[in-house]
Amino acid sequence: MSSYQLLVTGCKGRMGQAVLAAAKAQEVPVGAAIDVGDDFASALKQAQCVIDFSSHHFTAELLAGALAQQAALVIGTTGHSDEQLAQIKQASSQLPIVFASNFSVGVNTLFWLTRKAAELLGPEFDLEVVEMHHRLKKDSPSGTARSLVEILAEVRGLQYNRDCRHGRFGDVGARQPNEIGVHALRGGDVVGDHTVVFANVGERVELTHKASSRDTFAHGAVRAARWLQGRAPGLYDMQDVLGLRALG
Ligand code: NAD
Repeated sequence: MSSYQLLVTGCKGRMGQAVLAAAKAQEVPVGAAIDVGDDFASALKQAQCVIDFSSHHFTAELLAGALAQQAALVIGTTGHSDEQLAQIKQASSQLPIVFASNFSVGVNTLFWLTRKAAELLGPEFDLEVVEMHHRLKKDSPSGTARSLVEILAEVRGLQYNRDCRHGRFGDVGARQPNEIGVHALRGGDVVGDHTVVFANVGERVELTHKASSRDTFAHGAVRAARWLQGRAPGLYDMQDVLGLRALG
């Protein structure tokens, strides 16, 4: 692994710090680590794979640099615009990229279970997603909540941008059968809670995941970086890294 070194971007942040610790624990060498104001281009020369937990404002520069150096990418940053998402997809035709709204094994199992539950429970069940994060989180809803809504939308033949309802306020009228509600709570030091609610008349199913440490995300991101070594260009996610896609 010694010729395969990591560059950690956003290294002074909560996740950046956790990734540096996880890389040390997994004995994956870190060639460089940068934050705002540091020289990204020269740091890239020290690494073959970038783990990015910074800001979506950095994504264009991240992609341009990685393309120039042919570096693999693990993108954990969330909150991207549709245009930035399209840029990531475009770059993946030339680079191997793992892009995941959540790197924990538990949440990726929740993604799998959510798809299965939506398929089994059928269209009579109303779908709502509730997430809670610490008071400093900048984007809303969380990338993980967005992924959950996208999974639900795909099963139901709906679209995230058209059918997702972000909270409710005022005289909103009765719930529409085709909407998927998403609600963001913020407070304290909550690392990340997500609940998917499937509600019908007379019964309801709730699937919940609660993260109590960022280490689970950081270890998953380093695992993804290791998995990327020698991988062909393409857009991968943690379902690929963990082999969950093969389960159907
Ligand atoms: P944070 O604010 O603690 O850290 C972000 C760091 O990135 C800061 O140190 C900031 O200075 C730095 N940064 C910002 N712009 C930069 C730039 N242009 N160049 C270099 N560094 C830059 O935030 P955090 O809690 O560590 O989260 C970071 C991102 O990761 C957020 O988008 C968050 O939603 C996401 N996140 C993803 C997962 C996941 O599993 N995918 C888990 C947790 C957080």
